[in-house]
Amino acid sequence: MIRVAGIVNDSIVDGPGLRMAIFMQGCDKDCAGCHNPAARPLAGGVAYTAAELFEKIRSNPLLTGVTFSGGEPLLQAAALLPLAERIRAADLSLAIYTGDVAEDIFARDDARILRLLSLADILVDGPFILARKSLTLPFRGSANQRILDAKRSAELRRPVCATDPAWDADRG
Ligand code: SF4
Repeated sequence: MIRVAGIVNDSIVDGPGLRMAIFMQGCDKDCAGCHNPAARPLAGGVAYTAAELFEKIRSNPLLTGVTFSGGEPLLQAAALLPLAERIRAADLSLAIYTGDVAEDIFARDDARILRLLSLADILVDGPFILARKSLTLPFRGSANQRILDAKRSAELRRPVCATDPAWDADRG
């Protein structure tokens, strides 16, 4: 099961296009100024199967993509794999936000996380840092966060900047 803190059916702020943003329940970080404190407790939220979430996604034919946010989506990498596979098969774009820094993710060498990233288009990495907060950077809360090519980064086990111009040419 996938534990979900909340769902925005038609977001335009969690990546380009019209996206379903799924905020996962549970986070192991403690960012000052956290944008979603209710999603931090590991218990709580609502449990969905991948099939249930995919049905919600398919019920909106206008969606161009899906964003996994949180909370910390990588804590639920195993449960998210079947959903990511369906999203990929449906030819929707997939973006994942993580409070982890990419270098730390690759140092862990977790096969489920690497597989999840290989199914995604974009990885936005790094914790929210209040001192680097920005209201002008598209799709990011603070300037330390990077917009990465998820698949290529997973393949090379290092952060690779995304080249998709829809995600913003200015990456701070
Ligand atoms: S990673 Fe995100 S959800 Fe977790 S504490 Fe930081 S801002 Fe909050």
